[in-house]
Amino acid sequence: MGRFTEVLRRVEGTLPEVLEAAVGVGAPGAGAAGGPPEHTVEYSRSARGGERSCELLLRLTSRCNQDCPFCSAPPPHAEPSLPAVMKFLDKALPRLPRPMVTLTGGEPTLQRDLSLFLSEVRALGFAIKLDTNGSRPEVLDALLERGLVDALAMDLKAPRPRYAEYSGVSVDLDAIERSICCIRESASEYEFRTTVAPGLGVPDLEAMAEWIRGARRYVLQPFRVPAEKGLVDPSWAERDSLSPATLREAWTKIAPLVRGGGVRA
Ligand code: SF4
Repeated sequence: MGRFTEVLRRVEGTLPEVLEAAVGVGAPGAGAAGGPPEHTVEYSRSARGGERSCELLLRLTSRCNQDCPFCSAPPPHAEPSLPAVMKFLDKALPRLPRPMVTLTGGEPTLQRDLSLFLSEVRALGFAIKLDTNGSRPEVLDALLERGLVDALAMDLKAPRPRYAEYSGVSVDLDAIERSICCIRESASEYEFRTTVAPGLGVPDLEAMAEWIRGARRYVLQPFRVPAEKGLVDPSWAERDSLSPATLREAWTKIAPLVRGGGVRA
């Protein structure tokens, strides 16, 4: 059994069998048993507001231009060929309850030929969500202008003065600013979100909410170390972070600054 199927089995109890046939026929090359390269595709299911939603996560690249110490993305891995991923999506489509893909990473806007790939994914009938760190506003702008993205989720790592500390690199804050503006102006569905990493306090959360004041949706994600995954800097796993209860309390101060959102369970 390929690694891909194992991942699916772990994440989701029933749909893997539904998708298994798709894995076996025409799935992107390189992986065991003809499956996609390790880490390329994951399937997750969540329940929001009583409604169950399904996501096919595509990790086309593990490259990232940030180096967040608390990052739990998979280690560097081979990038799949985009035509092979398309072939996989084509086969998987009829078996998916909801034709939607989420592009994640790494930073997916670093992927070459992204707009061409997304136009083809769109032509197959998929809705497209993009997760981004907001460092490449020109790419977001072009994708939104061409109507290639239905929803965007942008990470806000920290308030401006602490951005480098939490992204692990010297970030161009103007680029982050331009991404925030472009998403707010042009995306029909979006959220800004913060993983409340160790060391971030309630004043930091308030400063970030102030930064995006009036945004449609802001979500706080409690910091958790995912099972079976390491962090870029393992010492961060031992550090204290705000509890979900504290975040819910903090949210009562933040809520008036934005139009929606909350603390993700
Ligand atoms: S958490 Fe940071 S380093 Fe990891 S993928 Fe996201 S932006 Fe890149």
